Amino acid sequence: MHATSILNFDYNATAPLLDSVRDNALMMLNQLNGNPSSIHLLGRNARAVMESARERMAAVLLVKEKQIIFTSGATEANATVLKGFKGPILVSAIEHTSILAMRDDITLAPVDENGVVILDFIDKWLAKHPGHALVSIMAANNETGVIQPTKDIYNLCKKSGAFFHSDIVQAIGRIPLDLNNFDCVSISAHKLGGLQGVGCIIMREEFPFNALLKGGGQERSYRAGTENILGIQSFAVALEHSFESSQFNNWFKIEQLRLIMENELSTYCPNLHIMGKNTIRLPNTTCITMPGLKAETQVIRFDLESIAVSSGSACSSGKVKKSHVLEAMGTSKDVMDTAIRVSLSQNTTDQDIKTFINTWKKIYNSVNHATETINAA
Ligand code: PMP
Repeated sequence: MHATSILNFDYNATAPLLDSVRDNALMMLNQLNGNPSSIHLLGRNARAVMESARERMAAVLLVKEKQIIFTSGATEANATVLKGFKGPILVSAIEHTSILAMRDDITLAPVDENGVVILDFIDKWLAKHPGHALVSIMAANNETGVIQPTKDIYNLCKKSGAFFHSDIVQAIGRIPLDLNNFDCVSISAHKLGGLQGVGCIIMREEFPFNALLKGGGQERSYRAGTENILGIQSFAVALEHSFESSQFNNWFKIEQLRLIMENELSTYCPNLHIMGKNTIRLPNTTCITMPGLKAETQVIRFDLESIAVSSGSACSSGKVKKSHVLEAMGTSKDVMDTAIRVSLSQNTTDQDIKTFINTWKKIYNSVNHATETINAA
């Protein structure tokens, strides 16, 4: 089946490849045959492509080129920052698993029922760990879209002398972010329409960084391993595209479509829950329940209707496990079990939303609410 025949409401898992990225990549495939570390012409050519991409990214992000360290994705970026830090670490309970799984000795900051990290907890933790400490809180959650108060967190960190790292994978390019309010961030190209398998760390010079991958001396010894030139080139193209002002206007339109969908479905089904409803969320993301039908069954039912949605983070796809994000928000089990993530793309149309709403209603109506409970075998 062609991917184009599927309505993609799972944009947060991976953004569709941008046409400009595809065109560039096809052109590059015929040209790239050097290792950027080689000193001969082929190597120098490859290095020039990589450095030009770094330069373009630095210009878009208003940072210095040497602040950008390319990695194989945000998972590696997060792992590198977390593993390398020597000192007390605080992360939120709703972080991506690539943060949560990295260390056993981290403190978890709780979130409120809307999924927003509790600032008072961070303040008190910092008071107990003055000076050299790390706080890592994502800018926006991948499952609920809930946006975190990163500027406030940064200010608390600076008051205490701590460093602030943020996984900004889902926020960058979708909401305005000022990188001056972070000491270090992780980004992934494929969430912006670039190729999969490439990401970066952007950090201030004073950030206490220790390499995870060592040996080859690439990336000024911050990250060993031959760089993914094709991916890095695609990253620059995708990032530039996402920072065009028209894209931010476009996300505003997408937010209106998301609100239409949420309003219409909640009117149709007053028992429907919207996670993080009472706080600011990414324009494109909603995590909603369909009372009476388990999330994994919904994903299959939507798939049969050629609509892609997710039962939570795609990184745990294949494994059905409860969402640590919804759990941290204190969501009850029956609500949690019936919640799916619907994430709109930049290309979602009015007609797509209508199709989604009608399909949602069709699936919902097909459930025998009198007899089927989510606990049924
Ligand atoms: N952080 C967040 C918030 C994500 O959504 C993802 C991707 N699911 C990652 C990190 C991991 O990114 P990558 O796929 O580049 O390893």
